[in-house]
Amino acid sequence: MAALTENADNSTAPTDEIGTTTPEHDEPVTDDLSDDERALLVDGVRYVLDGRWRATRDTVRAGTDRADLLPDPSRTLDEARARILAEMRELADHDFAAAGFGADHGGTGDVGASITAIEMLGYADLSLMVKSGVQWGLFGGAVENLGTARHHQRYVPGIIDLDILGCFAMTETGHGSNVQALETTATYDRDTREFVINSPTPSSRKDYIGGAAQHARFAAVFAQLITGGPDEEPESQGVHCLVVPIRDADGNDLPGITTGDCGYKGGLPGVDNGRITFDNVRVPAENLLNRYADVEADGTYISPIENPNRRFFTMLGTLIRGRVSVAATAGAAGRKALTLATRYGLLRKQFDAPDGDDEITVLDYLGHQRKLLPLIAKSYAIACAQNELTAELHDVQTAAADRAQTDPADQERQRQLESAAAGLKAYATWHASAAVNTSREACGGAGYLDENQLSIIRDDIDVFTTFEGDNTVMTQLVAKELLGAYAEDLRGLSAGGWVRFIAGMARDVVAEKTAVRQVVQTLLDSSDEDTENSSLADRGTQIRLFRNREDHLVRTCAQRLRRAGEDDTDAFEIFNDAQDHLLKVGTAHTERVVLEAFVQAIADCDSRSAADLLAKVCDLFVYSALEADLSWFLMHRQVSVERAKAIRRGVNSLCQELRPHARTLVDAFGIPEALLAAPMLEHG
Ligand SMILES: Cc1cc2nc3c(=O)[nH]c(=O)nc-3n(C[C@H](O)[C@H](O)[C@H](O)COP(=O)(O)OP(=O)(O)OC[C@H]3O[C@@H](n4cnc5c(N)ncnc54)[C@H](O)[C@@H]3O)c2cc1C
Repeated sequence: MAALTENADNSTAPTDEIGTTTPEHDEPVTDDLSDDERALLVDGVRYVLDGRWRATRDTVRAGTDRADLLPDPSRTLDEARARILAEMRELADHDFAAAGFGADHGGTGDVGASITAIEMLGYADLSLMVKSGVQWGLFGGAVENLGTARHHQRYVPGIIDLDILGCFAMTETGHGSNVQALETTATYDRDTREFVINSPTPSSRKDYIGGAAQHARFAAVFAQLITGGPDEEPESQGVHCLVVPIRDADGNDLPGITTGDCGYKGGLPGVDNGRITFDNVRVPAENLLNRYADVEADGTYISPIENPNRRFFTMLGTLIRGRVSVAATAGAAGRKALTLATRYGLLRKQFDAPDGDDEITVLDYLGHQRKLLPLIAKSYAIACAQNELTAELHDVQTAAADRAQTDPADQERQRQLESAAAGLKAYATWHASAAVNTSREACGGAGYLDENQLSIIRDDIDVFTTFEGDNTVMTQLVAKELLGAYAEDLRGLSAGGWVRFIAGMARDVVAEKTAVRQVVQTLLDSSDEDTENSSLADRGTQIRLFRNREDHLVRTCAQRLRRAGEDDTDAFEIFNDAQDHLLKVGTAHTERVVLEAFVQAIADCDSRSAADLLAKVCDLFVYSALEADLSWFLMHRQVSVERAKAIRRGVNSLCQELRPHARTLVDAFGIPEALLAAPMLEHG
């Protein structure tokens, strides 16, 4: 059988050219491995995937290797909710949540560990992950990041140990994506030094809120803060967050609060999503989470950030942990589904083999390989990008805890982080939905039985494309940031206003490049600029194709939008006419970032056999991404028809080359065995 160092398009460039570090003693990977060699290879690849918080992964792996953590669809809604809360209490007893909170607030201040631990819960039960994410990540995150010492002292220890159960009440029936337009009001009453919370319209009802139906006693409520100084007319100072008690110790609504239950949903039965309306609910002024803004006793509004737009986006920006966790967990759910489907594909046989009594194992069909292996390859790429994102979030938020974040370089880094989080959230959750659905189908009828988990995962993962930022809105955000070259104060502009700004920008601003990482620069320098005539197996050529696509899309999109600077043009219409283009900019950018993160992870890998295998997986990621977008590459003459055919052939041959390693690739995900329980895997 072919060794992994062959090239997919029969070109001559050996895989070693991609710049992996290859210790002398370590052999290149081949197909005919002994059990020991395969186990070593699994370990080597897993080491790369586990990333910087691999110790956390191992701890959670050990603690969750239990089949009783898997969702049980026979539970009623009440039972499912009670069960998840009980599991959270068990986690809390094991000090699960402390990492997400500052050391001086009762936590251990390891942001990366907290994201990684939540991600690992995705292998067990997505309801457990979401409910934990709401309590510790969203509600806890709001108190931790938007609050000050008085809030940390009062709430954080109880949030960690679950004495204080909370919810994150941002979305309203009328507004989900457009948070600045929320209608709930928090009006300051200087006579009593209280805020009065109201839901002035039916559309201002808080909706879909995790924990609001049953368990939450407190809510982090996002509302228009209305106040004015002694000689001022009270007015809205924009959306702010307050801690509002919503239920008493017996679970009854407090005066002025009306909660409701969203009831049965498309999935996540263990999460009690609900609604909240407020009727003149009074809370003390100190319940305002006042890190970025406060109200003095006389009603005067004060904030260290003068620009209201910047203030709002600074507040929201501190809350991106939830978005990063959702992206990470989607990655885990996709990997688990692909593991189940791959193991099944290695057992399941259909139709006679031509030369024997036996039937053909379904994973030996090219069609089946094409279903699963490109998705596995994309999962690898996304996992590497996710590890980088988690690490960047950790570093930025750890630095932010140490200083005031007034340095423009810090602000720039924060904005880039937010854009990266938005992009990966959309890319990873769309991928997870596709991977889970395809995995279900790849298991035929067995995949449809809840006992084999895939149908449950599919229902549970569905909403990940919507919550923590709708994917379309997130992708657009990435593109807007790119086109605006991270210009300050661009966010919050209406579509028309934003386009007018872009139209007025100097022509070369959008062409500005972000820093190119060293490993990528080296690969680009050593590859031919003429992508058509250089080997497709050359990593530099691959990166160049992704980069060229992104550059082309950014430039041409900017050209289209610049028409808004001309007379008599309707700015919104121009924006809207180009929205498909804008969205493609966002996706192409994120896909390029994902590829470069994968290339970096391979370059950092010390095991030659693991690096060899990963390099081939990376090839498949590239070839299948190019194939998925061939119409664009052909239409824009970025590849010839001949090259397009070579890409298609390349996907086929890479699938066949990786087929013998399919089990290794999914074993390296390191999913606890008990969480992969599925009767279909016992008999095929
Ligand atoms: C199970 C579940 C749990 C949730 N938990 C919470 C929670 O705990 N706390 C909380 O605050 N919220 C929660 N949410 C709410 C969730 O965050 C919102 O549903 C989400 O932000 C999307 O908002 P929306 O529902 O108003 O959709 P909309 O924003 O109305 O989107 C509807 C459609 O319009 C499209 N669209 C919107 N704007 C644009 C645009 N500019 N350009 C092109 N297309 C556009 C979107 O892509 C989408 O397809 C939860 C939701 C669910 C379903």
